[in-house]
Amino acid sequence: MNNLVVLKFGGTSLADASQIKKAAGIIKANPARKFVILSAPGKRFSDDIKVTDLLYKCHQEAQNGGDFSQTLAKISDRYSEIIKDLGVDFDIKSEIEIIKKNLEAGITPDYPASRGEYINSKIIAKFLGWPFVDAAEIIFFNENGILDEEKTFSAAGEKLKSLENAVIPGFYGAMPDGKIKTFSRGGSDVTGSIIARSVSADLYENWTDVSGMLSADPRIVKNPKVIEYITYTELRELSYMGASVLHEDAVFPVRKAGIPINIRNTNKPDDNGTLIAASLPKNIEKRAVTGIAGRKGFTSIRVEKSMMNVETGFGAKLLYIFSRNGIPFEHCPTGIDAISVVINSELFDQKRETVLREIKSELNPDFITIEKNLASIAVVGEGMISVKGMAARVFDALAKADINIRMIDQGSDELNIIVGIDEAEYEKAINALYSKMIA
Ligand code: ASP
Repeated sequence: MNNLVVLKFGGTSLADASQIKKAAGIIKANPARKFVILSAPGKRFSDDIKVTDLLYKCHQEAQNGGDFSQTLAKISDRYSEIIKDLGVDFDIKSEIEIIKKNLEAGITPDYPASRGEYINSKIIAKFLGWPFVDAAEIIFFNENGILDEEKTFSAAGEKLKSLENAVIPGFYGAMPDGKIKTFSRGGSDVTGSIIARSVSADLYENWTDVSGMLSADPRIVKNPKVIEYITYTELRELSYMGASVLHEDAVFPVRKAGIPINIRNTNKPDDNGTLIAASLPKNIEKRAVTGIAGRKGFTSIRVEKSMMNVETGFGAKLLYIFSRNGIPFEHCPTGIDAISVVINSELFDQKRETVLREIKSELNPDFITIEKNLASIAVVGEGMISVKGMAARVFDALAKADINIRMIDQGSDELNIIVGIDEAEYEKAINALYSKMIA
């Protein structure tokens, strides 16, 4: 039983009055839904412009000493239409005037960017008849721009405890000097997670425009299955490998407190969406593979030296060369007399000469082989540890699709099997793995 639900609506769920009415219907449908976090109005159609992007544009125009009045008028018009269609009484002109004055005074971009959620939340609070709580009063960053968790959890918890319901703008908080600071793009997800943690919610609902997280990229696999349940750890693996449904930092606050996240679709509120939790519910059948994701753009540097296995510190020295050149490594498969380091191609290209020179002079290898254009694909699932033959199935699927595996890496936690293949075969490989492991 969820007694206290914190919910967040993304930009497409609030793009115009008809979407906002859907969101309001969802909010009011369950009395446990008490604290709602809102994004700025997003895109209404594919080539529409998000209000947040228009606000950044205003700032850019102001910085360049140009005229930002037309862009600001577009923002004002979007809100005026929403206000009219919702039938609320709201003085948008005064709000826009304040933004204009601040832009003219040369304010930092975070301030105008945050006004998208600020104004939207004020309007929707009026429409719902709920109090508005400014995020700048309850979400705090330290001097280094890092979230001050202790201060935030206690201030937000304290403030919201005194209220029956509240509407809170996402995406921003305040610096110690009171100036507005935003999270990175898509950061309203993070605000929602922080608020859920602050009020010790039973559930954090994240309402968006898809019915949950998909088990493979829909641009590659036709109609991939929705993932019904996923653990925080699996989500982290899949997100890192390119699957995106939630801001990366949104998991941390709720994860620590064990609050599950439910991804839901505002346009299909009856769909269950995806439930993200610490562990899978006991009564569901444990599946081996939860999802498949991958990324292109890797290079493998293979360093060979006979008798490498008896040379202490060879691997450490090699990895140190990459780290000192600011290149994090993704994988590091080793052989007896060879070790490969798989890294991001773009980063490598910037430091290529230096890195190779240092490897030669410091490690004196017999050969260095560089393989470019690699893609890495992860088959992820917590159930994998208890199922025999998973790796065999992965290799079989790729062999049958006539795909050569260039690298294999099974994470030490047995949560994933990662294969490196030629970038040109990426889409084919994802489809082959999906058909064999998930479909
Ligand atoms: N409006 C902000 C953005 O477009 C934050 C958010 O929607 O989460 O990135």
